[in-house]
Amino acid sequence: MPDFPAGEVWLAGAGPGDPRLLTLLALHAVRTADEIVHDALIDPRVLSLKRDDARLISAGKRGGRPSARQQEINRLLIERAQLGHRVLRLKGGDPFVFGRGWDEVIALAEAGVRYRLIPGITSGLAATALAGIPATTRETNHAVVLAAGHRADDDQSGADWEALARLGQPIILYMPIARLGDITAALMKGGLAGNTPAALLQSATNEDERCIESTLGRLVDDATAHGIESPAIVVIGSIVDLRRQVLTGLVGWR
Ligand code: SAH
Repeated sequence: MPDFPAGEVWLAGAGPGDPRLLTLLALHAVRTADEIVHDALIDPRVLSLKRDDARLISAGKRGGRPSARQQEINRLLIERAQLGHRVLRLKGGDPFVFGRGWDEVIALAEAGVRYRLIPGITSGLAATALAGIPATTRETNHAVVLAAGHRADDDQSGADWEALARLGQPIILYMPIARLGDITAALMKGGLAGNTPAALLQSATNEDERCIESTLGRLVDDATAHGIESPAIVVIGSIVDLRRQVLTGLVGWR
């Protein structure tokens, strides 16, 4: 494993939750860092792997204006590194998939701070795989769309859902809950049938993990009826139905 020098920031993805899905390099980083600056979603089981004397700094973006908070986080990372600490910036899933990892890398690069990037297993691909839903098969699709429903910042622009619908490829939707009604309506307006298979995948790899099968047209009602809460992934497309063919042999996650 590489040496973790004083004054460096390692930006690592922690995967979807269960520490068994950490990469070996991320585990090494968690065990070695002096300070771990982590998001709200990072599983306590992951953080418990730190050194006894390592400091945890929570940088969850709940509350406060998100863009201002992001600048604070950037400043914090730079400051702690310049003080000579070995700083691990730990993010859920993969840092570069809807994770604001790029904002932080730019800030570090501009400040002349040395950093290392450690990819993680992104929750959209983990949640689908664990539910028995393949992201691609040769028979069904040659592309898959990863899209963000609601970004945890003040950017309200969002994706062009009607254009995504016209691609006819499965959509794996992060942060789906807040705008699910708008998004499903726009996808149907773009031509996707209301009976297109869909699934709600809540808290993959965690205690309250759930997989609710639905359809595009019923997603909002099913999310409400089942009380689906963040963090959840929504997957839309014929790949969802494939899980029925393999469920008999599928051993549960735990
Ligand atoms: N960088 C992260 C995504 C951050 S955005 C990644 O690559 O996974 C936060 C969103 O990720 C949540 O709103 C949810 O859609 C998804 N998410 C994160 N962990 C999850 C989990 N264990 N189960 C389901 N969805 C999860």
